[in-house]
Amino acid sequence: MSVRELVVLGSASAVPTKHRNHNGYLLRWDGQGVLFDPGEGTQRQMIMSGLAANDVTWMCVTHFHGDHCLGVPGMVQRIARDGVAHPVRAVFPASGAVYWDRLRHATPHRESDVIVELPVAGESATLATGDPFTLTAWRLSHPVEAYGYRLAEPDGVTMLPARLAELGVRGPLVRRLQEDGEVRTADGRTVTLAECSVVRPGQKVAFIMDTRLCDGVFELADGVDMLVIESTFLDEEAALAADYGHLTAGQAAEVAKQAGVGRLVLTHFSERYRPSDEPRFTEQAARVFDGEITLVHDLDRIPLPSRRAIGVKGAD
Ligand SMILES: [Zn+2]
Repeated sequence: MSVRELVVLGSASAVPTKHRNHNGYLLRWDGQGVLFDPGEGTQRQMIMSGLAANDVTWMCVTHFHGDHCLGVPGMVQRIARDGVAHPVRAVFPASGAVYWDRLRHATPHRESDVIVELPVAGESATLATGDPFTLTAWRLSHPVEAYGYRLAEPDGVTMLPARLAELGVRGPLVRRLQEDGEVRTADGRTVTLAECSVVRPGQKVAFIMDTRLCDGVFELADGVDMLVIESTFLDEEAALAADYGHLTAGQAAEVAKQAGVGRLVLTHFSERYRPSDEPRFTEQAARVFDGEITLVHDLDRIPLPSRRAIGVKGAD
């Protein structure tokens, strides 16, 4: 069964709290598992979520501040210890390669060769294309070099059974129409795929951590079904957010609004806030963005919005 969901392993910013672990998120996408920003304690949070090292196929680090990467040694060693056999692609800013090396080889262990390093440099980079998704990175604006990530499934088609029947396409002809783009029916008519189907836009997710508002933020978020974005501060602390290279709840919502996203997922909260402050994040975001807003808690599982929910006709 295909599962597409975000599992929240941690949602604090620089300092974990009683309620929130350091960052960490596993995006489950059919058979793939993209582990974003494994902060301290990620290995145990995965156990708490019922996940295993074997579920990880990608590890994407936005930058090398500790709350986004101090869980790398634990994950690397667990991947080796558990004998994970498939490749695990590790994406990180090339400018931080020295930190990656330290984390990957932090302490002696029996090393595995399944980790494939894909350092990112420049304004943007494409790490994977096509099936099951295209993965791109865009540079963000933070005191150390940081990248956000975007996953995009290729567009597909949804067949329209009534149109197929009307045009006399049935049985094995349907398969041939899907493969060849057109087919000749029993009565000699040529029928094209476009006549019998609608485009089913691929699902898209953006993952944007530590940054100020910048071009990369909007490139990443453009039209995604789910935007996972930091909102370290409330709007009252906008000056502080700009100074430290972060976003406020209202700014995160502004991105969601301008980019036309399906669901806004707020995370990465400063330790200065108590649980009783949480409704204010949602309130400030809702003043700007009128779509669905989710404020995460550790161990939450957030499904990708269904295609129907974002208004795509004829898809499940
Ligand atoms: Zn940071």
